[in-house]
Amino acid sequence: MEWLTDMAAKRAELTPHRVAFTDHDTGVDMTFAEINDRATRFANALLDRGLTPGDRIAVLCMNRADFFVILFAAQKSRIILIPLNWRQPQAELEPILAQSRAKLLIHDADFAAIAGALATTLGLPLCPMGEDAANRPDSMEAMIRAASACPVGDGRIPAEAPWYLLYTSGTTGLPKAAIQTAGMAWANMVNYSMAATLTGSDCCVNYLPLFHTAGINLPTLPLFLLGGRSIILRKFDVDTVVSLMHKGEVTSFFAVPAIYQALSLHPDLEEIDFSAISYLGCGGAPIPERILTDFLKLGATICNGMGMTETGPTVFLMDPDRAEEKIGSVGKAQILTDVRLQDINGMIIEGEGEGELQLRGPGITPGYMDNPEATANAFTEDGWLRSGDVARRDADGYYFIVDRIKDMYISGGENVYPAEVERVLTTHPAILEAVVIGVEDAKWGEVGAAFLLERPGSTLGTAELPAWCRTLLAPYKVPKSFHVVNELPRTAAGKVRKNILRDSFRKAEE
Ligand code: ATP
Ligand code: MG
Repeated sequence: MEWLTDMAAKRAELTPHRVAFTDHDTGVDMTFAEINDRATRFANALLDRGLTPGDRIAVLCMNRADFFVILFAAQKSRIILIPLNWRQPQAELEPILAQSRAKLLIHDADFAAIAGALATTLGLPLCPMGEDAANRPDSMEAMIRAASACPVGDGRIPAEAPWYLLYTSGTTGLPKAAIQTAGMAWANMVNYSMAATLTGSDCCVNYLPLFHTAGINLPTLPLFLLGGRSIILRKFDVDTVVSLMHKGEVTSFFAVPAIYQALSLHPDLEEIDFSAISYLGCGGAPIPERILTDFLKLGATICNGMGMTETGPTVFLMDPDRAEEKIGSVGKAQILTDVRLQDINGMIIEGEGEGELQLRGPGITPGYMDNPEATANAFTEDGWLRSGDVARRDADGYYFIVDRIKDMYISGGENVYPAEVERVLTTHPAILEAVVIGVEDAKWGEVGAAFLLERPGSTLGTAELPAWCRTLLAPYKVPKSFHVVNELPRTAAGKVRKNILRDSFRKAEE
């Protein structure tokens, strides 16, 4: 498919008066017609300012409906949008903005100070957004007021051209800017909505940061394309999410494991009527089995899935009817993504087996922006994306994510996948979360070091853990050291940054 329609314009034509977004903090609703009108005007305003297709602009804001106005304005004008991670300090944002040659920085009031500093050092023009900036002549509101509402271009959007850039989570190293296209958004819409039986009558709550793929695509963009509604929270707040679920407003839900973990500890969790929520999706990191079983007891079937920033993201999603029987599985690959497993000798595995997960299809990124070397390394010679993950396919064709290849370590000649050890550790009644890394060892080459968060209200004695582990794991998989910690280094999506743990462990040993 070469061309796709202008998404916001098509939706405004089909369901102009339906609400697309509710900004939870202000209570303001935005209809599909309003979103499209604002996006069209903003696109015209950007082009009037002298920006041209292919130029890059960046946005630094908390979650808000106007983020999607900017996203659709970028699609209409073919200016490439870079959503910035607001957890990054100025020192980290500066090289990203410089290297991406961004020509404008749109920001909300929360980031006025940092945006001002970046404008000074980089000579970057600013565009403040939000009500508080509405009267400023350089604001997004002023630009929208002054611009034409005439459609931009011919309404055809190239399927494979860069629409926006998303930095990968940076779990294993420096984040890479994966190109996102309109074709990827459509593929994800088909993959996600078929698996999650999403419809235009659904409503989701969106609290995951909009600078990551899950915030934009799981399921807000698919829901938008279907004509459904997203309630946008500034950022995650467990009480607000529980109360929205409790009120029955949310009919489709997606979260990363860290959020399900937070929900599982909430005192009002049992009050939620989960039968009103048609799909509870999860992905982004391994989810402890205990969370899945705890939710099942409440009548809530969490469906695990797997995706990457580079894949739109949805690749795998679990079918709720099989979730209990195939607990821990990410299900099967969805309709628009081809998957294969390759063993270490480069042979493709048929049937049951374990190997590197590789992916192909319209949901896959064309590559990393301005980084041909990283792009070349990410794809096989015959064009499949290398996930860097080991997956296992069982006899029924269900997939399980074993671990990242980078996290695997070798102890006394045996491969150890930390995710397996972590899964076992989290079955201990006093352990809330466990993280295992491979560290150097004079005798075994490498051994495991476990970092543990205690379950609230329990005290964890680490002395008994080696013996306890040996009843459940082969001896070479039992970590050599156990460390109870108060917190873990995490990405914005709550993933544990093992490279930081490895670095600090190494420094402490020196
Ligand atoms: P970086 O590529 O910058 O190191 P990242 O890989 O964490 O960061 P993302 O694109 O957000 O960036 O995450 C994709 C990865 O998340 C997958 O390659 C996989 O390792 C992991 N992942 C996603 N879903 C699951 C899941 N259900 N179970 C286990 N791991 C998962
Ligand atoms: Mg990755």
